[in-house]
Amino acid sequence: MAEFLMALSEEEATLLSRVAIGFVVCLGAIIGSFLNVCIYRIPINQSVSYPRSHCFSCGKTIPWYHNIPVLTWFILRGKCANCKAPISFRYPAIEAITAVLFLMVFQMWGNPKLFGLNPLSIPELIPFFWLFVASTVVDVMIDIDHRILLDRISLGGTLLTFVVAGAFPALHGSNLWYEGVLTSFCGALAGFGIGFAIAFLGERIFLQDAFGFGDVKWMMLFGAIFGWQGLLWIMLMASLIGLVMGCGVLIYNRVKGLSDEQAVAIPFGPALGTAALVWLFWSRAILKGFLAARNWVLMHEQGFLWVFVPVLLLMSGWLVFRIRMIRKYNRELMEAEAAEAEATLEPIAEPTTDQEHPHA
Ligand SMILES: [Zn+2]
Repeated sequence: MAEFLMALSEEEATLLSRVAIGFVVCLGAIIGSFLNVCIYRIPINQSVSYPRSHCFSCGKTIPWYHNIPVLTWFILRGKCANCKAPISFRYPAIEAITAVLFLMVFQMWGNPKLFGLNPLSIPELIPFFWLFVASTVVDVMIDIDHRILLDRISLGGTLLTFVVAGAFPALHGSNLWYEGVLTSFCGALAGFGIGFAIAFLGERIFLQDAFGFGDVKWMMLFGAIFGWQGLLWIMLMASLIGLVMGCGVLIYNRVKGLSDEQAVAIPFGPALGTAALVWLFWSRAILKGFLAARNWVLMHEQGFLWVFVPVLLLMSGWLVFRIRMIRKYNRELMEAEAAEAEATLEPIAEPTTDQEHPHA
């Protein structure tokens, strides 16, 4: 940890670090509570500061003593104190997740060995990464709810990262401000370029924006923060996580007797955001594991067959399945629209003047 802690006795240092950890967890939970508000209100263009939090069922403003992150939900057993309407478990879950993510960012600097985290060389970057994890939680949840990724996070975040990379080039392991900015800039460019190529091809193959422009802009941010190599790893992990998530939803839907289309229509944002967070915390461990795996494969040639071929087959199978389902879904959608248009087709009265054209 930092030098000033070295001057303290061991007991004092332990106490201080416990106080710091408690503070960070509380801060994370409070921020998580605010993120819940952002996730709900930003997509429907409501102010995040006014009005104060209220029950969705009875509309009663929630008093401060019933608005304590995580704890309130358990004390009130997931029900509104006034009308007893159920409150989603999602709220305390997001507060708890944010608290854990805040603590992990802090421990990257404080005690990275504990969970095998990437070490953070300077504490000045802690607030920046807190902002990053918080914005990722918001984007993932809004993508699940509305299939939107916020521009203010992707574009605003990219610009902020350029500034931070110049002020603290340690972000990219450098001491020179222009190296920091250049690495961020090249990463952002790579993120935009690769993302744009995937979006373009995806539109041709899937016949719809399966990988939307929102994802492209978010990849630009990841490139700015993690550099172009980090971005490639995040893409690779995101496709693996997306595969697992997709299969999970598919199996769940089959068990519940729902249609496969809902499994196919899941957004890519959650997989992309999860991959970026995993890379933030464990990129060193992942690279180490990858090198070990590569060495193992080089020593056992048949290892390649047993490990990589099944993964490759599974991924291509999933891709083919998704393409077929999305094409089928789009075809049905177009047929339904055509049928509807035919049903509602009425003789249109000739427009008298251009200004009064009713269908313009
Ligand atoms: Zn209520």
